[in-house]
Amino acid sequence: MGTVVQKYGGTSVADVDKIRNVAEKIIATQVSGTDVVVVVSALGGTTDELLEMAYELNKDPHDREMDMLLATGEQISIALLCMAIAALGQDAISLTGAQVGIVTDSSHTKAKIVDVSADRIVDELEKGKIVIVAGFQGVTDDNDITTLGRGGSDTTAIALAAKLQAERCEIYTDVDGVFTADPRVVSDARLLKVVSYEEMLEMTATGTKVLQVRSVEYARNHKVVIEVKSSFSDAGGTVIKESDEMMEKAIVSAIAHDLEEAKITIFGVPDRPGIAAAVFRALADAQINVDVIIQNVSEKGITDISFTLPASDFVRGKQTIEELVKDLDARGSAFDEDIAKVSLIGGGMRSHPGIAARMFEILAENKINIDMISTSAIKISCVIEEKDADRAVRALHDGFNLKDADGLSSGA
Ligand code: ADP
Ligand code: ASP
Ligand code: MG
Repeated sequence: MGTVVQKYGGTSVADVDKIRNVAEKIIATQVSGTDVVVVVSALGGTTDELLEMAYELNKDPHDREMDMLLATGEQISIALLCMAIAALGQDAISLTGAQVGIVTDSSHTKAKIVDVSADRIVDELEKGKIVIVAGFQGVTDDNDITTLGRGGSDTTAIALAAKLQAERCEIYTDVDGVFTADPRVVSDARLLKVVSYEEMLEMTATGTKVLQVRSVEYARNHKVVIEVKSSFSDAGGTVIKESDEMMEKAIVSAIAHDLEEAKITIFGVPDRPGIAAAVFRALADAQINVDVIIQNVSEKGITDISFTLPASDFVRGKQTIEELVKDLDARGSAFDEDIAKVSLIGGGMRSHPGIAARMFEILAENKINIDMISTSAIKISCVIEEKDADRAVRALHDGFNLKDADGLSSGA
């Protein structure tokens, strides 16, 4: 019998009625003749509530304790989902990440999966059970509980699908699939039927939170085909897979935006070899992933360095830079949490000049100032003020005519 892995996100299990709805969908899949392994997130809002309580008690909580706390969210939902399935007459068993054998490294709060053992899952499937696994969590070789970063249940699902060589990995969420922009911001965003791993990686890396970026990397590396669908309707659905000849090669296929970044600037740094190395080594040692970096042209041997980083690393980044400013003999530093990054993504961009120019024109026509720019072969990102983010996304979606499937090259 084939195996299907299904993942249900927090909004899909936000209350008892929704949990019952998910239980019915799971049973229907099993009855159709496949083994079912389900990965579930914490009930909607739980992870945020736990984080809020933690920070109220301690501004810089220990990462190990944070993981101990956050992992409880998913433990609640697996047990409740099993109870709902049992009440509908089917046999299910809940398992934590540690019970399954999802082994991670020890970088608490953003741990990476290093090994997955599926023996326990296979045993339970052979007994005819539906297996419900807690997403987002793992365990180190030393038996400490870890979590995989926000949105990490997606990665759990894909890792299990890879290990079990599942027929399908279905990610159920609160929208119909992957759209040309966040459907909550752009009302006429278009559902994309197929997206390549390459484009989905750029979309998730630039803030499209429908999937965790690491889950897409994992899927690409292990050739797991992902289907993103709605928990609440049978409409739509997006398949994410390797790019092939038949796939639409859109010049611009989507707009992503990210409000969860912050910016740090170091002013008046001596412009000599080793300075950038010192700054970014200190940040790397503090486990901070830096995103866009700009170093100004130096004047009289002095320059400014700006970079963006995830908002969740802001406190740690600020501390690191404040200490470093003294050592580097820099003039000072500035910190800005009210920024946003908007990005254009498209596999066809690499062979079409003029896209960046058009993007900047659209932003200029809307009086939106660009603070920083970064590009890759299939992406252009602009850092702007947070208050302009929604307007920028809508203007770019309109300007590149993304609501029409064949309007992608117009405007460029
Ligand atoms: P879940 O709780 O199911 O994991 P998430 O909140 O993590 O759900 O992800 C789903 C959300 O992603 C949607 O509600 C939507 O607002 C947001 N989103 C952002 N960009 C896109 C996009 N391009 N296509 C679909 N959803 C998007
Ligand atoms: N509960 C975790 C979060 O809110 C993991 C997930 O939902 O995927 O980020
Ligand atoms: Mg999610």
